[in-house]
Amino acid sequence: MSAVSDLQATLDPSRKSWVESANEPSHDFSIQNLPFGIFSDTTNGARRAGVAIGDEIVDLAALQAAGLLKLPSNADVFARDTLNDFIALGRDAWRSVRIQLSNLLSRDTATLRDDAALRAKVLVRAADARLHLPVQIPGYTDFYSSKEHATNVGSMFRDPKNALLPNWSEMPIGYNGRASSVVVSGTPVRRPNGQLKLPDQERPVFGACRKLDIELETGFVIGGGNALGEPIACADAEAHIFGMVLLNDWSARDIQQWEYVPLGPFNAKTFATTISPWIVTLDALEPFRVAHPVQEPEPLAYLRHDGDHAFDIALEVKLRPHAAKQATTIARTNFRHMYWTMAQQLAHHTVSGCNTRVGDLMGSGTISGPTEDSYGSLLELTWNGKKPLELKDGGTRTFIEDGDELTLAGWCQGDGYRVGFGACVGEIVAARG
Ligand code: CA
Repeated sequence: MSAVSDLQATLDPSRKSWVESANEPSHDFSIQNLPFGIFSDTTNGARRAGVAIGDEIVDLAALQAAGLLKLPSNADVFARDTLNDFIALGRDAWRSVRIQLSNLLSRDTATLRDDAALRAKVLVRAADARLHLPVQIPGYTDFYSSKEHATNVGSMFRDPKNALLPNWSEMPIGYNGRASSVVVSGTPVRRPNGQLKLPDQERPVFGACRKLDIELETGFVIGGGNALGEPIACADAEAHIFGMVLLNDWSARDIQQWEYVPLGPFNAKTFATTISPWIVTLDALEPFRVAHPVQEPEPLAYLRHDGDHAFDIALEVKLRPHAAKQATTIARTNFRHMYWTMAQQLAHHTVSGCNTRVGDLMGSGTISGPTEDSYGSLLELTWNGKKPLELKDGGTRTFIEDGDELTLAGWCQGDGYRVGFGACVGEIVAARG
């Protein structure tokens, strides 16, 4: 078979795994998914590369050592504490690993299925594993590409009649974020202190953020960078993307509102950004490609691409107060609503000649849908605190309180299987006194 048909076979909805948990129609980690991450476990504390399959993790270093996973020149890239060296091998290597894993994990392949000793060497129960930040992130950029979100924020803080500034529909607006404070799901997030400008006082006060918020986003990870001075064309941009994660761009709204003019967000965003631990490849997302929204006015030539460049990814946000039994789903939306595509974001980012590097993280911007229950931030869901949300345990929320746990989830629903992202979770702890 050709490489193309081998890759196509990894997407066959009827393919099942001998890892039975992967065959549950609502499990995030089907055999069609095969997302990459970095893990350690209770018996082996060394960080190494893995792939999620059902309730198990395949240890890629162990699989390679057992002679069951081939890489060009037998490259030593899996016994690492980040995926960067593997990603740097390029798209043919990612695809080759995907094809080999899909075959090994298929119900029809006896190699591991019928060899318990071998399985014990290369499989780790997810319940026994700890997941780590999957990539070393040289740079983090955050965009602002949801028309609904930009319209809501513009209406609240400027003028409902002119909510979108004229540049918004001409380019993917973005800013350079802070890579050093990107953390993996499960890491507690401390409420930031900063300057707050209260409406009844002339000068700001210093104190703990009173309007702490989430931003429901996805992120994409650069798999092939570009040299300084050499832009990435819009039509080529997706080939530079390794995959996607869920991303919570924690935001301090009161700090933001005071500091953001004239240069944009700074301390309101730099204290933490949480990402999900598994990187879902663009190959796994391919069956869920859909048309992106019509763009009017037509973008300038360097931002044009043919074909469909959105993906049908269901997204939701849950809030659970500390020790509460029940979480409340506070938002449901879909990545397909995004106005600017990932390809356009990357083309715009590099059109100046700016270089990107393997592992760079690009946030989508808050993903808000068209209805009031599909907004991707508390700022919008509560309309800046004016409309509190009712929680299942009886309480209400305008913004996040200490001890609240926020969980983002996202998945593509196929026919009888899911390509999901796993959870992106963070609990807020009290500010430093
Ligand atoms: Ca953001």
